[in-house]
Amino acid sequence: MPAPSPLLPTAGPAASAPVSTETPPWKWPWTRWAKNEGKTFFWICLIHALTVVGLVLYPAPGWGMFGIAYGLFWLGGLGTTVAYHRSLAHKAVKLHPIIEFPLVFFALMNGSGTPATWAANHRLHHKHSDTDLDISSPRIGGFWWSHLRWLWQTEQASIEKWAPDLNKGRYLFFTRMQVPMLMVSLFAGAFWGWEAFFWIGPIRLCFALHAQCFTNSIAHLNPKVGPGEDSAMNIPWMAPLQAMQGENWHENHHSKPASARLGWTLSQIDLGWWFIVGCEKLKLASSVRRP
Ligand SMILES: [Zn+2]
Ligand SMILES: [Zn+2]
Repeated sequence: MPAPSPLLPTAGPAASAPVSTETPPWKWPWTRWAKNEGKTFFWICLIHALTVVGLVLYPAPGWGMFGIAYGLFWLGGLGTTVAYHRSLAHKAVKLHPIIEFPLVFFALMNGSGTPATWAANHRLHHKHSDTDLDISSPRIGGFWWSHLRWLWQTEQASIEKWAPDLNKGRYLFFTRMQVPMLMVSLFAGAFWGWEAFFWIGPIRLCFALHAQCFTNSIAHLNPKVGPGEDSAMNIPWMAPLQAMQGENWHENHHSKPASARLGWTLSQIDLGWWFIVGCEKLKLASSVRRP
C-alpha cells in the first residue's frame, strides 16, 4: 500500500471558509493553513506587512544601516547553506562545534527554522523530487506553491522519520529557543529606532525568506524535463540574490547531493564552499565530501 501523500494533510481547516478535505492543498485559498501551521502563516503575513510599512516610511536607509541588515542576512544565508544544508541535512561536511553553533544561530535568526525541521523537509524533497510526494515542487503545485504556500499549507515533513538525528542533543536547544530567538530577530533593531527596527527586523527577514525560497521555486522550473523527473536547474543570475553562497547551482547539487561543493568551477562562485575549505585548513571542518 503506498504511503499517504504529505500533500494531503489530515488537518482540518483552520481558516474561515470551509473547504473539502479532498481538495489538494495547492488549490486551497491562500488563507487556509494545514494543521499546526497557523503560526507560520501569521509569521509570514506579519513580516510582509511590516516590510511594506518599513519600505514606505524608510525607503533609503544609510549605508551603515543597510550594511548591518545585509551582514546579518549574509551570515544567516551562510548558516543555512553550510550548516543546515551541506553539513546537517546531507552530512557532506562535519563542522567543529565552534563553527556549527554560530552558523546555526544565524540561520535560525534569519528565519530558516530549526535544524530538525529544515533537514526533514529537505531530505524529503531530495528523496521524492518533483513527484507528488515532494512537498515543495512547482511542477505539482505551481510557482507560488513552491515559493511560499507549502510552508503553511501542507504538514511539514515528520522529524521522527526524516531527521531523528537532529531531534536530540544540542540541536534540541535550538528547537526550544526558536520562538524567543525569532522575537529577538524581529524586534531587536527597535533598540536603535524605527528605521533600524524595520531594516534589521522585517525587511531583512522578508528578503532572507524570498532569497531562500527561490531555490524551491525558480530553480525547480526546468521546462525541459518530463512529469515526475527532477527539474533542478543551475540559475547563474540568482547568485547575487543568494549572496554568491552557492545555492543557485541547484542542478549540480541534485546530481551529487552528497558533495559539500555546489559550484563546481571557479566561475560558478560558491562562497559557502570556500568557507568550508577555509575551515578545513584551520582543522575546523572534516570529512569534506567533494563532487
Ligand atoms: Zn531541489
Ligand atoms: Zn540538498
